[in-house]
Amino acid sequence: MFRAPREYVVVVTDLVEIRRLGTVKAAENVAFRRYLAARHCAMEPFQALAVSVQRGMDCTACANCCRYSVVSVGRAELQEIARHARLDSAELVRRYTDPDPEAPARRIVRSGRNGCIFLDGNLCSIYPARPSACREFPHVTRGEHSLGARMASLCRWAPLCPIVYNALEAFKHAVGYHHSDTAA
Ligand code: SF4
Ligand code: SF4
Repeated sequence: MFRAPREYVVVVTDLVEIRRLGTVKAAENVAFRRYLAARHCAMEPFQALAVSVQRGMDCTACANCCRYSVVSVGRAELQEIARHARLDSAELVRRYTDPDPEAPARRIVRSGRNGCIFLDGNLCSIYPARPSACREFPHVTRGEHSLGARMASLCRWAPLCPIVYNALEAFKHAVGYHHSDTAA
């Protein structure tokens, strides 16, 4: 039975601790994924929890998604970035993107040692024109996909994204999941 708390308070925001706990809980999260798949859990209750988690999180203190994501952009997004950065589109493509190996018509925003080329400290230097993938990350509060379809990605991001980690932990609590509940 799902018990939605009125407000879930983010309890872990330290990135070192998130990485440690997310890694320690890797096997548990895979088991939770099986648990949810076996029960055909809907996305909506998880999304409702994730909204309250996201409200309590200051992403400017994190920026891990900008450090570890691969961001694919289409033509319209490139034009929007070029307009915002006052760059010629061809120059933007040449200096700031790489080919997208999975989609010939798209480009990948270039990354360096510290992550996305547009990341300045913990802030996005093209924030008003950032691509839709960045606006919607970590894709936990909206979207049509089932929770089962999202769980592989959520498990991957749990050690990196405090919103994902805390939303998963809150949802385990809400559905009464304990790690021994590994029934498939
Ligand atoms: S979405 Fe997640 S990974 Fe990205 S900045 Fe916010 S908390 Fe960090
Ligand atoms: S474009 Fe901006 S929001 Fe997107 S990954 Fe780069 S720095 Fe982050």
